[in-house]
Amino acid sequence: MSDAASRFAARYGETLDGLAPPLDADDDVLGFGPADYTEAPLPPLPEPGTPERAHLDRDQAAMVAGLLHVAPMRPASWNDPAVLPSRGCFCSRCNGQLWWCEREAPRGWYCTACLPPSGLDPVRLIDTRERGR
Ligand SMILES: [Zn+2]
Repeated sequence: MSDAASRFAARYGETLDGLAPPLDADDDVLGFGPADYTEAPLPPLPEPGTPERAHLDRDQAAMVAGLLHVAPMRPASWNDPAVLPSRGCFCSRCNGQLWWCEREAPRGWYCTACLPPSGLDPVRLIDTRERGR
């Protein structure tokens, strides 16, 4: 048992006997030990202004555009009322941008279109549409 594992076990009044020992950094997991790992250099970028470089630049721009599109996407609900809907975020199901949360005993945030409030209890609303767009 490693020193760290012994300290952990002692702190919790337990023993790690019978459990698999913790892995060390140089343990051979799945047959890929440190000796099997070699760094391969990345191929050089094509020169700017070449068709090959333009192709790579377009691919990268498309990837960045996709990431920027999905970054503000949120699920239709989440269960942490402290995590407020951020400006510009939208529902992954309906693209809605109006969110509600229970005013008393909040349990989470919900898309008003996908999971509308019952209307029986007061709710807090947040509109995440960006102004001026
Ligand atoms: Zn929705």
